[in-house]
Amino acid sequence: MAEENRRQLLQIASQPGNDTCADCGAKDPQWASLTLGLFVCLDCAGIHRVLSLRVKSIKLDNWDQEQVDVMRTLGNEKAKETYETCIPPFYRRPTQDDVHVLKKEWILAKYEREEFISKEQQNYDCTKKEGILFKLGRDRKTFQPRKFCLNRTNNKLEYYVNEQLKPKEEINLDDVNAVFVPEKIGHPNSMQITFLKNGSTRSLFVHSETSKDIVDWYYAIRAAKLDRRKIAFPDRNIEQLAEDLTKDFLLEGWLYKMGPRNEPFKRRWFILDKRKLMYFEEPLNAFPKGEVFIGNRESDYSVTKGATEGKGGSPNCFTLNTPERKFVMKAESKEEMDKWVDQLQKVVEMPLTPQDSKMATLLVAKKPFNPIRR
Ligand SMILES: [Zn+2]
Repeated sequence: MAEENRRQLLQIASQPGNDTCADCGAKDPQWASLTLGLFVCLDCAGIHRVLSLRVKSIKLDNWDQEQVDVMRTLGNEKAKETYETCIPPFYRRPTQDDVHVLKKEWILAKYEREEFISKEQQNYDCTKKEGILFKLGRDRKTFQPRKFCLNRTNNKLEYYVNEQLKPKEEINLDDVNAVFVPEKIGHPNSMQITFLKNGSTRSLFVHSETSKDIVDWYYAIRAAKLDRRKIAFPDRNIEQLAEDLTKDFLLEGWLYKMGPRNEPFKRRWFILDKRKLMYFEEPLNAFPKGEVFIGNRESDYSVTKGATEGKGGSPNCFTLNTPERKFVMKAESKEEMDKWVDQLQKVVEMPLTPQDSKMATLLVAKKPFNPIRR
């Protein structure tokens, strides 16, 4: 009997819809959220369990006929019809590789708060959002509570050091990017907010007390940006406008960089933020030491393995060639080098968008060029 139940259950689990996690899309989910009657991956099952929903392993637990019938009657497709009827366009459907807070809040919004069942459940269209975020201070070590305010009327994100004073920083929302960085900050509810300041990328590192709060800020930024785009491009469809409201970094990590006049390699923290390659002395620095715009292959940008001529001896080296300068970098392993070269090559192959070209003109070179003679 038990074997027959399992056979039936596995058959149900292999059906289209049930063969990917109901919440993050991971393939071949091995768990079931019995209360809701859906199939989920191990990670998402953990979150369902926190919600006090009954979770069972498909392969390790015993199933009775009644439970198997629940899974047959419900299932992922039906759950989608119920719980995902009106997902706001600025929302981001998490994938397997996304940070935990994003998955957790997605699951809570979906099943506990039932936010996507009807528009009445939603409360995103506030013109002003205010609250406390803990911001990394100048010492780059301690986080201080700061009042943040997102104001759609003037399209600004501001933060205050003191209630009475004017904002310490007023950031144009059009230029803001937000990325979850739990590992870098060492706090699960944390975010790196970047924007351009005097031709250079400024980073604010913040965290909040609850996962809901940080995710709310993230979506408030995305919602405000989408609103502006709707006004600026009334003829474009919403899916198009909702693309790239925020962009995760393509790659981050330590590399060694050769100085512009072939000085010895220095260890730097690199971030590849779409067409922008930034390098920092430390991962939590407010400004990069330098940043390079990466154009398209047709305008003489390329990535090659190895160093510049005559310097090819060092292993795991690669070179970013720009019309002005060659940047020689070295990774700690061949795998790391391959990862960077692959990603950089993809960027070089990407067509340039008008926003890319705008960004190129806004970025100001920090030091006068010291081009390597070719
Ligand atoms: Zn999942």
